[in-house]
Amino acid sequence: MNKTYILFCLMLMIIISFGCNREEKMLKSSLDSIAEDDIKAKISILASDEFLGRAPATEGEEKTISYLAEQFRKTGLEPAIGTSYFQEVPLIAITPDPSLKLVITCGRNKLDLNFSDDFIGYTCQTGAEITIDNSEVVFIGYGINAPEYGWNDYKDVDVKGKTVLMLVNDPGYVTGDSALFTGKAMTIYGRWTYKYEEAARQGACAAIIIHETGAAAYPWDVVRNSWSGRQFHLAGNELSKSDLKLQSWITTESAKKLFESAGVDYAAVTSSASKRGFKPVKMNLKASASWKNKVEYTKSVNVAAVWPGSERKDEYVIYTAHWDHFGVNPSIKGDSIFNGALDNATGTAALIEIAEAFVCLPKKQKRSVLFLAVTCEEQGLLGSKFYAKNPVFPLNKTAAVINMDALNIFGRTRDMTIIGYGNSQLDDYAESVLKKYNRYASPDPEPEKGGYFRSDHLSFALAGVPSLYLSGGIDDIEHGKAWALAEAEKWIIANYHKPGDNYEPDKWKFDGMIDDIKVYFEVGYDLSNTEEFPEWNPGTPYRSVRENMMK
Ligand SMILES: [Zn+2]
Repeated sequence: MNKTYILFCLMLMIIISFGCNREEKMLKSSLDSIAEDDIKAKISILASDEFLGRAPATEGEEKTISYLAEQFRKTGLEPAIGTSYFQEVPLIAITPDPSLKLVITCGRNKLDLNFSDDFIGYTCQTGAEITIDNSEVVFIGYGINAPEYGWNDYKDVDVKGKTVLMLVNDPGYVTGDSALFTGKAMTIYGRWTYKYEEAARQGACAAIIIHETGAAAYPWDVVRNSWSGRQFHLAGNELSKSDLKLQSWITTESAKKLFESAGVDYAAVTSSASKRGFKPVKMNLKASASWKNKVEYTKSVNVAAVWPGSERKDEYVIYTAHWDHFGVNPSIKGDSIFNGALDNATGTAALIEIAEAFVCLPKKQKRSVLFLAVTCEEQGLLGSKFYAKNPVFPLNKTAAVINMDALNIFGRTRDMTIIGYGNSQLDDYAESVLKKYNRYASPDPEPEKGGYFRSDHLSFALAGVPSLYLSGGIDDIEHGKAWALAEAEKWIIANYHKPGDNYEPDKWKFDGMIDDIKVYFEVGYDLSNTEEFPEWNPGTPYRSVRENMMK
């Protein structure tokens, strides 16, 4: 072998190894900055009792948003709104009356449903007194009008001024029939938000959803806790302008009593609701309720901070995490603070952690990155909905959204779940980063729970912006998939939307969480360096909205 060739080979090796390492070198200090002690410190503050469960428009909000703004400022991020980190979100707060009774009559027979144990109810109306007087009750099946699935529960009946009684989820879920809707996987029509909106569009006076743990994806306690305190709505929302006076849920037991008093076979009628050709059932029942309505006009904020790009500053990648949770419920004996440690002190802490990682880059990314800690997610994705309607930076210059809500506390996994897998080209970005770490992306293991419709990326998806909802994996390295699913389920039953969602550093595992945060960071890093605007895949309902805004 001649000397020149040896020299050539040596040089080639140097060039190759330099090339391989450049990207890694570029990311090393950022990735190293994502560390267990760091994330623990942030979660412990956000989930502390001092932050009072981070309820919007309370002292807990003040503490939370000051902390977040201070973290962003210290990290060197710019305020997104002039000199301010706060985007104001105007709200109406309505407190339901716990003495409220829903009275159902059938001729002379009367059934009183009590707030909290039998039903929960609230209104978006702003009147001082709300009265529902002998409104006729109609069982409307799933309460769905979905032309693309050839389904309309409202087609044979006029429900103006009436009370619609309906089931949660959709006919595909209950039958598992893939020819109905999307089979087991929940569609947006399965969600309570949609059902109330459709009832309002149809002119109903009251809407009652029958709770069922499997179909709703959570037990009655979650419904009760979520709607017992002060309810927030965006000021001037569509429901407050409609005739819908009452939005409510009743327990399965209450529903059965109600059907019994009407002499209608519960099992037979509810099962007919999932078959094509279902006809609404006039229940021969009347609903009445009357209550004083406590209305306050208030506001909350989305916290927004920018790390500007080096080349295409006017293009954005957005990271979102909701900072809010349920606050304090003084009527609960013992621990009455909903600390929301997992949901979503973890995601909020990760938001700051990732901002710090971007700042550590030796060379700035090309696009700007917006870190958006949104409010009122727990009240129906209100903060993100508000941003999507009042974007600080144009949505057609927003390349993608990456949402973080409740990170992995169970240990390292081989995979990460993409909720809404197959929706957009963002899957490719996530998959390529995961591959680098010898990990893989898996689809939502429980699409029947409607995860895609339950966090802030949805607000952006509905507004057309490709949004990625990556979540902790289920292929646990140490214990396998069955164990991981069972652990998550156990946690949900014990703690989800309950005061038990506490920060437990001795029980939680952080290695898997750190792995995942690095993936979130790198996916956003790649998106902030590409010129591509990722697209929704054909067949997704969000694609046409995006195409229109990009014209
Ligand atoms: Zn959450």
